[in-house]
Amino acid sequence: MRDRFFKSLNRIVIKIGSGVISTDSGLDGDRIDVLSADIGALLRSGYEITLVSSGAISAGKGDLNIQGRPQSIPLKQAAAAIGQSRLMRYYKRAFHEQGFKVGQILLTRDDLTDRKRYLNARNTVRTLLDYKILPIINENDTVAVEEIRFGDNDNLSSMVTALVEAQLLIILSDVDGLFDRDPRHHPEARRIPVVEKVGSQIEAMAGDTGSQVGTGGMITKLQAAKRAALYGVGTVIVNGRTPHILNRLFQGEDLGTLFLPAAEKMSARKHWIAFTKKPRGKLFLDDGAVAAIVNHGKSLLPSGIRSVEGRFGRGDAVSLCDLNGREIARGVTDYDLGEVMRIMGKKSSTIKDILGYKYHEDVVHRDNMVVESSPLKKDEGSNGSNRNASTRS
Ligand code: GLU
Repeated sequence: MRDRFFKSLNRIVIKIGSGVISTDSGLDGDRIDVLSADIGALLRSGYEITLVSSGAISAGKGDLNIQGRPQSIPLKQAAAAIGQSRLMRYYKRAFHEQGFKVGQILLTRDDLTDRKRYLNARNTVRTLLDYKILPIINENDTVAVEEIRFGDNDNLSSMVTALVEAQLLIILSDVDGLFDRDPRHHPEARRIPVVEKVGSQIEAMAGDTGSQVGTGGMITKLQAAKRAALYGVGTVIVNGRTPHILNRLFQGEDLGTLFLPAAEKMSARKHWIAFTKKPRGKLFLDDGAVAAIVNHGKSLLPSGIRSVEGRFGRGDAVSLCDLNGREIARGVTDYDLGEVMRIMGKKSSTIKDILGYKYHEDVVHRDNMVVESSPLKKDEGSNGSNRNASTRS
C-alpha cells in the first residue's frame, strides 16, 4: 500500500532536522552527501522537491566556542549568521555532484503571515521549481525575534507544505517515528506505523521526547503532521540517520510513521488563518456569542465581546476565547484594538454613531474564522449567507 501511496505523489517537502546532519563538532558532510544522493535520485525520477533544512545554528556555534545548544537569542542569531552560509555551501557542493543547482530562501513568520509577502514567497519557490532548481528553506534566524519566529522548523515545514501545495511532507528526524512510549526509556516501546488522525491520545504518546540538537521535539512534529493533514497532505516521520532512508521509503518499506491526510480538507485560506497567521490579540466573548459561533456557524458581532487583550490592527489574526480564556476560534478582525474597545458590548447598529464610520456589522466575519473545536465540519460548510444572525443583540 505504501509504495502506491508514494508513487501517486509528485510534489514533496522534505524537512531535514539539525540532529540528522550535525555532529558535536558541526555539520556532518558525509550524511549530507548521502541524503543529497537520495534526493538527487528522486529529482531525476521526476519528483518536485522543496527542502526545509535546519542546521545553521549547529554549523556556526563552534566558531563561538559554544557546546550544546546556544541559550540566548543573540547567540543563536550569531551562530546562525555564521552557520547558514556554511550549511548552504555543503548543500551546493553535494547537489552539484548530483547535477542540480540550489537556491536559498530564508523566511520569517511575517513573510507567510502577510498575504502579499506570502504570495511573493510562493512565486519565488514556484519559479525555482519551474527551473528545476532545488529550493532550500530555513528560518531567517539572524533577524527573527520572538514575535516573528516560527520557533522550529517542523512548524515551518508544514507551512511550506501549504505554500508550495505539496502532497507529502517528509520529516527526517533523529528518531525512528512515533512510538507508543518514549523509546529511550522503554525498550519495549512499539513504533506506530500509521496514524489516521492526530488526536489527544496520539499527542499523549509524544510526551516530552525532545531532540538534543534541534529545537523541535515530537510534539512539534505532531503539530506539523496535524496541520498538514488538515490541508489534505500526508506526513511521514522517519529517521534521517538511517542509510538511504528516502530510497527505502519510496520502495514502499514500512519505516517510520505515516500520518494520513484528513478526509476533509480545509481551504487554503482557512488553513492560513488557523495556522500561519500569528494571533496578535484575544477577544473574550460572552456565552451567547460562544454558542452562536461554535454551534450555529455565526460571525462575531461587537455585542458579544466582553473584553480584549493584545495589540492588533485591522486584518490581524485574533483568538476568540470564552470567558475562561479557552480559545474557541481564530479569525481575522475587521476592526483594530482601539475600535474594538469602543464598540464592544454595543449593537452593530450603533457602530457608525460611535466611530463615525462602519466597515462591517461584524468584528470577525464567519468566512474569516476557523472554529477550534470542530474546524472541519461546522466551518467549511458555512458561508456568507448566515452572516451575523444570532450574535446580534
Ligand atoms: N533554524 C534553526 C537552524 O537552522 C533550526 C530550528 C530547529 O531546529 O527547528 O539551526
